[in-house]
Amino acid sequence: MLSRILIISTNREMSPQPVAPAGAAWIAEALSQAGFDTRLLDLSFEKDPGRRVIKALSDWNPDGIGISVRNADNGDFLSPRSFLPDVKEITEAIKENSSARIIIGGPGVSIMPREMLDYLELDWACMGEGEEAVVAFFNAEKPEDVEHFPGIVSNKCLTSCNERKEWISPDTVRPKLHGWVDVKRYLNFEPVLPVQGKRGCANNCLYCTYNRIEGRSWRLREPSAVAEEISELILRTGARTFEFVDSIFNQPEGYMEDLLEELIRWDLKAKFHVSSMSPKGLTKKQVVLMERAGITAVGITPESAADETLTSLRKGFTEAEVQNAAELLKDSSIKALWCFLMGGPKEDELTVKKTLDFINGRIPAKDKAFLTTGIRIYPHTGMHERALKEGVVSSSDSLLMPKFYFTDKLSPEEMRGIIKNRLTDSRKVIFLSDTNFPSLGALRWMGTKLRLPSPFWSYANYMNLMLSGRRVINRKWER
Ligand code: SF4
Repeated sequence: MLSRILIISTNREMSPQPVAPAGAAWIAEALSQAGFDTRLLDLSFEKDPGRRVIKALSDWNPDGIGISVRNADNGDFLSPRSFLPDVKEITEAIKENSSARIIIGGPGVSIMPREMLDYLELDWACMGEGEEAVVAFFNAEKPEDVEHFPGIVSNKCLTSCNERKEWISPDTVRPKLHGWVDVKRYLNFEPVLPVQGKRGCANNCLYCTYNRIEGRSWRLREPSAVAEEISELILRTGARTFEFVDSIFNQPEGYMEDLLEELIRWDLKAKFHVSSMSPKGLTKKQVVLMERAGITAVGITPESAADETLTSLRKGFTEAEVQNAAELLKDSSIKALWCFLMGGPKEDELTVKKTLDFINGRIPAKDKAFLTTGIRIYPHTGMHERALKEGVVSSSDSLLMPKFYFTDKLSPEEMRGIIKNRLTDSRKVIFLSDTNFPSLGALRWMGTKLRLPSPFWSYANYMNLMLSGRRVINRKWER
């Protein structure tokens, strides 16, 4: 019978900001509630993660270890960087220094569990949420006893790791981030904590991996449970701003309204951000309710402002709906970060110009645009099917290391030329590659000390001024 479980969060990415390991904390809480003596080792700020892991193993000698992998790489076509060699070093250190039962999990693993097990030379993975699966794995007399448990994947699986069919209620275990993570360290980089109102996504965008991480349907949390979690976070951490990190905040229909009404009832005296909102069907009434509930900033994710591209990306809404959302948000007090993904199938000079004209003409000074070029190809996505058909990747490619799709109608350098010439004010645009700027962490830290109101992306024009000639838009795009 296993008793001491160590959960290790391996993510150390600082760009654009360190992210508190909320998922790993959720698993640690589930294990603790199931009676395991549990610890969480967060490697975010560790300079020498291998040494830190070895020390944790010799200090405590756990008999079960859960390793969490947030992302396989940075998803940046122009400066790709895989995180997996680092993860491999950590898992090697664990194998050399412990005989504990090991399982890997987290979003990076859920997308390609079998490939990840092969690469790390490990036997067991959790695909998707782990509150029940990981508990069952450590409760079992031997791992083989739970090899058919929903979410458990072994390195021998042939088909079972292609799709997870059963998912749990996201209210099964109440998250307790502050109980497991030193949240103050994260708050130093921007005083905002993550919260999740739902899991899953019923949309089917061409490139997206969400259905493998959280499933193909919406699973909603009780609004009162979400409000209670926020209330406790306020009491325990002093944080006053929270970001909803759901797949899409304003879907399915009606849930956002229920959640916001509940937040208003609780009178939490907090502010809220939203990481991802769809332009689809947005109404004036919804925007007014969002303002009343304390939402001050949203990430809105049309990915394009051209019908042809929206269709090829399978976004499920039109250019007209994107324009309508812009009109509604322009007249509100909510700051919006408009996210675009350029270089997908059928993207050409005309569609790129349409999106740039939207950025020029429809995004007001209070708002910014976030621009990613090139699409990371992940297995089991429509993007992968298309890339295979077009010969961009071959069927023997595991896709563990970053591979990208870029439209064959333009070269990257031609796209850069169009963007550079067409944008009237490039300072209001954040390019993914510019978020690697090493001083960003120090600027964030200063912003927090100076108590600048968040979101910090709203100061992007100052950062862009500082970066100036070093910005990616001013360098050749060679790929
Ligand atoms: S709406 Fe967002 S989360 Fe849902 S499938 Fe599309 S990209 Fe993925």
